[in-house]
Amino acid sequence: TGLIDIKGVTLAYRTDTGPLPVLDDLNISVPEGGFCAVVGPSGCGKSTLTRLIAGLMRPDEGEVWLHGARVTSPRATVGMAFQNPVLLEWRTILQNVILPLEIVPNKQTKAQREARARELLALVGLEGFEDKRPSELSGGMRQRASLCRALVHKPDVLILDEPFGALDAFTREDLWQTMHQLRAEEPFTSVLITHDLRESIFLADEVIVLSGRPATVQYRMAVPDTGP
Ligand code: ADP
Ligand code: ADP
Repeated sequence: TGLIDIKGVTLAYRTDTGPLPVLDDLNISVPEGGFCAVVGPSGCGKSTLTRLIAGLMRPDEGEVWLHGARVTSPRATVGMAFQNPVLLEWRTILQNVILPLEIVPNKQTKAQREARARELLALVGLEGFEDKRPSELSGGMRQRASLCRALVHKPDVLILDEPFGALDAFTREDLWQTMHQLRAEEPFTSVLITHDLRESIFLADEVIVLSGRPATVQYRMAVPDTGP
């Protein structure tokens, strides 16, 4: 069994025109520390899958397990980053990254929370930008900050839903390198949604191809560890 275990998951959305089957008997297991990329055509159910892992939805059939417990409600142990980072403009970059630590109950002092956020920001190359506002940063820098925010509370699972999709090719490849650095420093288990097969191979240990309506796993590929 893995840190994430998706067992026989089937899901249909209820719509005005009847049920829309989206996922059919999905079985995916991601070991602790694993990095799983999910690729597939637009609309095949990738974001739906991330919502199931985060506990934002429940499957019609099957089970989603995280760390040996069934997921039945939203989990604080999941960190998420999306294509368009939603950073709060009225807070500084540091204050944005600290946010999950203020929301999730923990015993840390203010100084400890701040040190944790600064440590992560330095790791992704944002040292010196802590007191800037989101709009003062480039798109790539904002995405770096949103990755820090997703990781600041040391979640069991980092869900990345096309986080590099809106970036230019150079910035995107810089972020890939940053992901490798983060992974070397911070233990996390990740599920990456992407349309970019090169990205999936560069970042992940396993690539899962979803397609069909409802979607099933069409193909699984272990990526040999060739290093960054
Ligand atoms: P992907 O992330 O692969 O693009 P999604 O998981 O967003 O796919 O969506 C899968 C399918 O389910 C799509 O056809 C989408 O239109 C539909 N869908 C997504 N969310 C909802 C919803 N809340 N209600 C009804 N249909 C939805
Ligand atoms: P993505 O491909 O990243 O999932 P979408 O544009 O498909 O993004 O979906 C954006 C939002 O709209 C999601 O929250 C999804 O649940 C919702 N959504 C998508 N398709 C439908 C639909 N057919 N009916 C209702 N909500 C939908």
